[in-house]
Amino acid sequence: VGWWDHVAPAAKDPINGVTEAFLADPSPFKINLGVGAYRDDKGRPVVLQCVREAEAKIAGSEFLTKMVEESVKLVYGKDSDVVKEGRSAGVQALSGTGACRLFAEFQRRFHPESHIYFPDPTWSKYVCSSSFGFLQVLVQFFQVVKCLSDNEIDVQISIFSVIEVQSCVLYSHHNIWRDAQIPERTYHYYDPDSKSLDFAALMDDIKNAPDSSFFLFHPSAHNPTGVDPTEEQWREISYQFKVKGHFPFFDMAYQGFASGDLDKDAQAIRIFLEDEHLIGCAQSYAKSMGLYGHRVGCLSILCVDSKQAAAIRSQIQQIARAMYGSPPVHGILLVETILSDPNLKSLWIDEIMADRIQRKRTTLRQNLEKLGSSLNWEHITNQVDRLAKEFHIYMTQDGRISMAGVTTGNVNYLANAIHEVTR
Ligand code: PLP
Repeated sequence: VGWWDHVAPAAKDPINGVTEAFLADPSPFKINLGVGAYRDDKGRPVVLQCVREAEAKIAGSEFLTKMVEESVKLVYGKDSDVVKEGRSAGVQALSGTGACRLFAEFQRRFHPESHIYFPDPTWSKYVCSSSFGFLQVLVQFFQVVKCLSDNEIDVQISIFSVIEVQSCVLYSHHNIWRDAQIPERTYHYYDPDSKSLDFAALMDDIKNAPDSSFFLFHPSAHNPTGVDPTEEQWREISYQFKVKGHFPFFDMAYQGFASGDLDKDAQAIRIFLEDEHLIGCAQSYAKSMGLYGHRVGCLSILCVDSKQAAAIRSQIQQIARAMYGSPPVHGILLVETILSDPNLKSLWIDEIMADRIQRKRTTLRQNLEKLGSSLNWEHITNQVDRLAKEFHIYMTQDGRISMAGVTTGNVNYLANAIHEVTR
């Protein structure tokens, strides 16, 4: 009696809250732009053909454990020296979140004094409703969508950027490292005025951080802004990391989604590799293979030699064992089957949805243009609420929309609704 009286409910998960509201809405026109889950053009969940074929192949097969090996090739390049020399300590992880969590715990054990720096904003930003303070949101949708056609931008786009928030903001990255008791800070990333990367401020933050700090980057398809550094900017960042001795940790949740090309989306990591950084990387197959519920991911840490890699691998495995024992194997078998079978791998690459998403972005933009929408610089409140109440369209309060929720069938309706609430 009385043991748990002091336990108050935790803050609602922003994405789950959106899905709950969506499910409760009886409207036939409703759209869920919250969860970044792959959907077919009718909005139904998709099982990729490569996954179906892998399912047939793995029936009754032994556990191969090649998933880590193949994942490391995917991110660092199959011909890279780190792969050839066995200098990566890789372990299976419970999807991208689990890989981040394992790394945070590893950092706590071996570098507890170093800060971790996150981009501002980072996954997943959530702003509480206006009862907590006055929210001023700036419509930047039109310009962001314009950028999208330049092939640079994420599947997740932020249509409204919050410029003044008074309280109650949750971020997944922050939560993960906070639970590992790592001191955290942010670095400048998105500039709401220019609606682009605040590169000068980002570089200043890198220079002003204490030497040997840890920095988390989204290597492509930054969530939630969709804004990524250019190749040249990544080179400058990598150079400055050498000067400062910082540690780069890449959270790769969308490889293949930004450009439709797996190698191109890993370009930032390859640049750091050329500059001989020791890198950490979290990989997720939740989105890229549509395996959300299987929780397949990989954590890899580059080392000076294979001996160090073996030591680090054993430490991470020990952390994982104490947290959850071992990961479920079915999804791991699916991923390793797809990655190690050349036919299934090329089928997967064909299926990666970048093309369809690219088309949807263009159509959405064209529809808005046809409606005569123009960039509205007024400070406007409540667009997200109006989209839900009047148009049955659900998204997180920061205005991030998952393009995976847009279909050929609902794109006109969506464009109309956005135009209405941003007039
Ligand atoms: N990292 C980023 C940047 C993300 O956007 C997400 C999911 O939205 C994740 C990690 C976690 O993905 P999962 O744990 O489902 O693989």
